Amino acid sequence: MSHDLAEHLRFFEDLGVTGISRDQAWRARRAKTPVVAPAAEPPPSPAASAPPSPEALLTSVPTAKVATPSQLLTVLREEIGPLCMRCKLATLGRKQVVFGIGNPNADLMFVGEAPGADEDEQGEPFVGRAGQLLTKIIEAIGLRRDDVYIANVIKCRPPGNRNPEPDEVDQCEPFLFRQVDAIKPKVVIALGKFATQSLLKTGEPITRLRGRVFNYRGASLIPTFHPAYLLRNPTAKRDVWDDMKKARAILQGDE
Ligand code: URA
Repeated sequence: MSHDLAEHLRFFEDLGVTGISRDQAWRARRAKTPVVAPAAEPPPSPAASAPPSPEALLTSVPTAKVATPSQLLTVLREEIGPLCMRCKLATLGRKQVVFGIGNPNADLMFVGEAPGADEDEQGEPFVGRAGQLLTKIIEAIGLRRDDVYIANVIKCRPPGNRNPEPDEVDQCEPFLFRQVDAIKPKVVIALGKFATQSLLKTGEPITRLRGRVFNYRGASLIPTFHPAYLLRNPTAKRDVWDDMKKARAILQGDE
């Protein structure tokens, strides 16, 4: 227990964290309530059984049933299917489609590149070593992994963890667009060069993209280094911590 605490504090130190937020509202916060709730049934009124007046018929608007983010994601998951065959990754050794995980009402969404071996095995993004570091990074700003939503540009593991190819991105990224449009996060954090360049449709190096905030499908997009890169280059954690503080400020409405 005390070992865990010491390890946690050491990690925070590694990230360059110099204190914890005293903002009670932030620390107590949970993800936003659904943006669109299903239309509520109106209370029965005595006039309900009476025929509508001609004026009411002219002005009445049918109550549209609007799908919640959770419902939209369920439909999307079913549409992709458990054994998607839309690109060649289906025949190159992937075990399953790794759709995405987390809170459908999240304000903060992370987008990585593609599942690795652990993710392909477990069907969940970012569960390997890089994923464990990502979880710590999320916790460093006072959130839990299940407060946010985590997905990848590509839903199936490329063989040998090679970079996804353009035809694979073309087939798969419309599903990511629809995930973002369903969740409507305030902030999207693009993890690493591949995700950032794919989302922003640019070939600019991550070193030039990082440190800036972009508009992406109604969200603020913050590029940062991939956690796998941080495992190899721990000194870059300080930059990631700066990016996470920027994300937190936007989520808190301070920016
Ligand atoms: N790297 C990624 O980009 N995504 C994952 O899900 C795991 C590792």
